[in-house]
Amino acid sequence: MREGSLEAPTRHPLDWQDKSFYDESAVEKELARIFGICHGCRRCVNLCTAFPTLFDLVDASETLEVDGVAKADYRKVVDQCYLCDMCYMTKCPYVPPHPWNVDFPHVMLRAKAVKFRKGQVAFRDKLLTSTDALGRLAAIPVVAQTVNALNRNGAARSAMQGVLGVHKERELPPYAPKKFRSGAAPSAAFAAKNGANTPGKVAVFSTCYVNYNEPGMGHDLLALLAHNEIPYVLAEKEACCGMPKLELGDLESVARLREVNIPQLAKLAREGYAILTPVPSCTLMFKQELPLLFPRDGDVKAVQDAMFDPFEYFVLRNRDGLLKKDFKQPLGNVSYHIPCHSRVQNMGQKTRELLEMIPGTKVTTVERCAGHDGTWGVKTEYYENSMKIGRPVFRLMADGEPDWISSDCPIAARHIRQGMGPQASKAQKAHPLGLLRRAYAR
Ligand code: SF4
Ligand code: SF4
Repeated sequence: MREGSLEAPTRHPLDWQDKSFYDESAVEKELARIFGICHGCRRCVNLCTAFPTLFDLVDASETLEVDGVAKADYRKVVDQCYLCDMCYMTKCPYVPPHPWNVDFPHVMLRAKAVKFRKGQVAFRDKLLTSTDALGRLAAIPVVAQTVNALNRNGAARSAMQGVLGVHKERELPPYAPKKFRSGAAPSAAFAAKNGANTPGKVAVFSTCYVNYNEPGMGHDLLALLAHNEIPYVLAEKEACCGMPKLELGDLESVARLREVNIPQLAKLAREGYAILTPVPSCTLMFKQELPLLFPRDGDVKAVQDAMFDPFEYFVLRNRDGLLKKDFKQPLGNVSYHIPCHSRVQNMGQKTRELLEMIPGTKVTTVERCAGHDGTWGVKTEYYENSMKIGRPVFRLMADGEPDWISSDCPIAARHIRQGMGPQASKAQKAHPLGLLRRAYAR
C-alpha cells in the first residue's frame, strides 16, 4: 500500500441523520482505529493540543499502544479539538481517497455529536454558542453598555469565571451600540458588470460577529463594494451560520439555522448574486460544512457555488479587469495572519495578494494556527492552551515593527493583539477590509 495518497483529497458527507452516526460503540471503534494510525504517524504533534493529549495517553499506557488507553479517556482528546480542519487539509497523507480513510476532524465531530445528544454539554457551552440570541440581547443599548462595562471589570470577570467558566483574563469583544444591519448604507444604483470569474452584484451575509460586535467591518465591506461600483443587497433575514453549534456537536441546531438562512440565500444565488461573508468561519460553513451535512440539498449547493471570501472575490474581480486600483494611501508594514478557516478554503492567500498590490505596503504573512477558535479559547479550561498554541504567532506577528496587526478572523486578531501584549506597542489592530478601505482613502 502506498505511504500517502497522490490524489486530491475528497471528503465524505456526514451521515448525521442516520441513527448509526450516534452509536457510541461504533464511534469508539472508529476513534480507536484512527488514533492507532495517528500514533504510528505523529505528524500532527505540533498542530494543536488534541494530538499531544492522545500521544501522552498512549505513552503513559501499559501497552504503549492505543489499546492500552481507557475508552473514557478518548474524550480528553475530543475536548481539545476545535475543528480547525488543519490536520485534514494540510498534513494528513491518509485522507480519502487513501484506503485508510483518516478524517480526524470528522470523527471528533461525531464524538462531540454523541456527547451533545447524551446531554453532556455544559450550560456555558450552549450559551456561548448562541451568538444570535446573545447578540440580540446585547443589542439593546443599555444592555450593551452594561455588558461591556462588566466585561472590563475585574471583580465581575472573576465572578463570571466562577459561575460561567469564561476565563477572566480573556479579552472579550465589546458589543456595538448599533447593529450593522440597522446602520448599513443602501447601495447606489450601479449597473452590474459580470466578469468571467465574478458576478457583478453582491449579496452580503453579515454574520453575527459583524452585526453585533464589529459593525465597522461590514461598513468597510460596503464602502469597498461602492468604491468599485458593485451593487449590493443584504440577505433579507439572518440567523447564525451554525458554525458555533457545529463545533459543539449540536447538529439539530445547525439544521434549524439552515432553515432560516439557506432558502433566501439560494434565491439570491439563483438570481446571480455573489454571496460574501466577512468572517472566514462563516464562509467555510457555507462553502464546506453545510454541503457535507446536506449533500443532496440543491439550495445548499447553490449557496456553496455562489459563496466567496471577500478577498477571493476582489482578487478575482481584479483578474476580470474590474477592480479599481486607485490606491491613495500606503499602509506601511502589515503583520498579516491567515486564519485556519481561510487556509482550509483552498483558495490561496487572497488577502495577502490584494494587500500587496497597494504601493508602500509590506505584508509579512504568518501562516500558523493562533489557537483561539470561536469559543474554545474563551473557556477557563482551554484559555492557557489557547495562549500556548498562539505564542509562536504572537512572536512572529511582532517581528519587523509592524504598523498594523491584521487577520481575516477578527476573533483571532483580538487574541493575537492580547497575546502580543507590550510587543505590539505601536501596532494598531485592523481588519484587512478596513486596511483596504484606508488604502482607497474612502
Ligand atoms: S481539526 Fe484542528 S484542532 Fe482538531 S485535531 Fe485537527 S488540527 Fe487539531
Ligand atoms: S491526522 Fe493524519 S497526519 Fe495527522 S497524526 Fe493522524 S495520521 Fe498522521
